[in-house]
Amino acid sequence: MTNHITIFDTTLRDGEQSPGAAMTIPDKVRIAHLLARMGVDVIEAGFPVSSPGQYDAVRRIALEVEGAVICALARAGEKDITAAAGALEGAPNSRIHTFIATSDIHLMSKFGDARYGSTLAGKRSTIRDMAVRAVEQARSFTDDVEFSAEDAGRTDREYLAEIVQAVVEAGATTINIPDTTGYCIPDEYADLIGRMVALVPPQVVVSTHCHDDLGLAVANSLSGVQAGARQVECTINGIGERAGNAALEEIAMALTVRNNHFGVTTGITSTHLTAASRLVATSSGFVVQPNKAIVGRNAFSHEAGIHQDGVLKNRETYEIMRAEDVGQEAEAIRLGRHSGRHGLFARLERIGVRVEPDQRDVVYSAFVELADRKKEINDIDLFNLLHKNTTHMSTAHYALEYVSVAVGTDRQPEATVRIRHVKQDTLEEYTATGDGPIDALYRAIDHAVSEAHDLVSYNIRSISEGADAFGEVSVFIGYGGPMFAGKASSTDVVLASADAYLNALNNLAAYRADEESVRFVNDGIMQAFEGGVES
Ligand code: MN
Repeated sequence: MTNHITIFDTTLRDGEQSPGAAMTIPDKVRIAHLLARMGVDVIEAGFPVSSPGQYDAVRRIALEVEGAVICALARAGEKDITAAAGALEGAPNSRIHTFIATSDIHLMSKFGDARYGSTLAGKRSTIRDMAVRAVEQARSFTDDVEFSAEDAGRTDREYLAEIVQAVVEAGATTINIPDTTGYCIPDEYADLIGRMVALVPPQVVVSTHCHDDLGLAVANSLSGVQAGARQVECTINGIGERAGNAALEEIAMALTVRNNHFGVTTGITSTHLTAASRLVATSSGFVVQPNKAIVGRNAFSHEAGIHQDGVLKNRETYEIMRAEDVGQEAEAIRLGRHSGRHGLFARLERIGVRVEPDQRDVVYSAFVELADRKKEINDIDLFNLLHKNTTHMSTAHYALEYVSVAVGTDRQPEATVRIRHVKQDTLEEYTATGDGPIDALYRAIDHAVSEAHDLVSYNIRSISEGADAFGEVSVFIGYGGPMFAGKASSTDVVLASADAYLNALNNLAAYRADEESVRFVNDGIMQAFEGGVES
């Protein structure tokens, strides 16, 4: 048996099924490029028959993204498989992933209709035949066909064996055993995988697909690997239906750090993990919890003095892996009020930013001022800080001179803005209405500024406590290429929203104007999000 574990990423399919996650097609293409660069073997790009947007996303990824097998999901039916094959056309390496539910509870409810059979035995045989036909049809388009027995975790073991054997004979090359409901526990799931591995010929790969309803998705996946699974299905940050899927970054690092235990390898370049996590968090709008393993911003921060001291003397005292192994080097020692000049400039240098000696005082006092307001300071804060406080950074293209927003129970939110176009020295004033005050405000700014772009994400959080709390707004905008950040904080969240948006638009405008100094800042921002292209 091979020692290589195929990493099958389903961030763009199962991950996108997270309630509330909505990624645009450009977001998905950007994520797929990063996944491929990171060494993911198979990218499940979507479920083409389900909507035109899904179809287009799979199609664009199939045409543009190189280096990984591009996979599309299809139910076990002709229309689905035709759509999947159509969307994948043009991909150098493509896989069709077809599935059907096999547990009794699914058979009796999803396939309750008498045309699927009047008894459980009758339904089981109809479903088996549908699965076989689907795999045969998929094989007419590609040699790489995956079959999933949905809710395998709760499927009768004998029936599961029967359907798996039938689809393997029909040409399935990967057999996925999803614990769709997150019901299994590790030894049970290992037993299930072990049986499947023993059942199929050695060239057929058995795959895990675990959900985190009981917090066991990663543990179950790893048990599956020990039992002989050679593909793991997972998502960045563990996003997905309900409690989510197994987290790719945790699987990859567990297999690497505990290689002595598992004895298997993956193709993942782990230094891209943090960048991938941030990109997915930004695109999906799902913030990563600070204590999240591997990619959480505290994952490598040592707060207790005794730990900090130990780590400085010998990192291995409290670290089983290094922050830089997962691309988190910039976060290794937390920056805060007590970091001092040396800490600040050392950190800036590590993230590739050199501040000229004559600028250092002004940058440092801005940092101290920010540190008073903010418990900890991250890379994006640093970029913003530099952006505001050094003379060789971006020249403002747009300046907000006036803003007024009106809301009320009996009226539509309305915003008026007056914006100075600094280079031309002209003023533009616009009024717009919207679904809410921020929507109205951003529409008015869009009119006044006219820089083509998409709003990629808008985030607001409180950075202090109480009724006078500071609200911090962070905005990302893009136009298909790089993304531009804007951030502002104020006790007035409407003003902070306007400032953050203008800040991002200024970054975009400066980038378009190809200003040398600004490129420097924005390259940094992009580096923080997409990782270096090297290695
Ligand atoms: Mn799933």
